[in-house]
Amino acid sequence: MSFLKRKKQASPPPPQPMPVQEEVTAQEYLLRLSYVARSSDGLRLRADPAVAMAIPGILEPLSQTPVEIIEPLPVEYSDASPAIERFNDMQQWVLARRDVSPIGRHGLYVLELTDALDMTVDTFFCGLLHGDPDTSGYPEYNSIVGGLASHWDELSGELIVRAIIGWGGRGLRGDTERIGQKLLSSLYQQVVASGYSLGEAEQARLPSMGGGSGLTCAHCGYEAGSATAFYCPKCGMRMVRGA
Ligand SMILES: [Zn+2]
Repeated sequence: MSFLKRKKQASPPPPQPMPVQEEVTAQEYLLRLSYVARSSDGLRLRADPAVAMAIPGILEPLSQTPVEIIEPLPVEYSDASPAIERFNDMQQWVLARRDVSPIGRHGLYVLELTDALDMTVDTFFCGLLHGDPDTSGYPEYNSIVGGLASHWDELSGELIVRAIIGWGGRGLRGDTERIGQKLLSSLYQQVVASGYSLGEAEQARLPSMGGGSGLTCAHCGYEAGSATAFYCPKCGMRMVRGA
């Protein structure tokens, strides 16, 4: 076909000089996440499993939802973390926490990411304290979750209980801080008023975190951070020393 041949032979027009673009128009995509947690000082409670059993009842009047007892992580999941960038730890966390309610998971997420809770030893008594969940049952960013956290003192074997709250996500509201502070005080006072408290704990947190001491609890497998520990901070049982 002769007209095709003609077209092929025609040389292409020289490229037009590109106008210099000073600034491209761009759409912005932005996500600001913000999580806040507050923990009170610790209160000492009598070394008695019956006292530990009474803790949900102390929290109950301040919780809008039934109190959920979230146990410390079993030894095989001790690396579990809700931080998505640590994918293997995240997988452990999902496995360990698959049966926890959306409110409990939100509480763990906020309080573990902020290091307010250490679930290798802490037992977490959790409820929705303020605000509403969304239609799927997940707390909104301005909902306040939390309650009480406990572990056993390594030396005295007493139960150390502290009030703990958290909130946050895709937003922050100015009045959440004020409501949170009030709730934290109420939680703390509730423990004092329960009659179980023996007074303030010198150290709300463990003096020595993490393993490395070689001293392992025969009951739950937790490795104490200090070789001088008499009691397991995780399960409260007496440490058995070999040899
Ligand atoms: Zn133990």
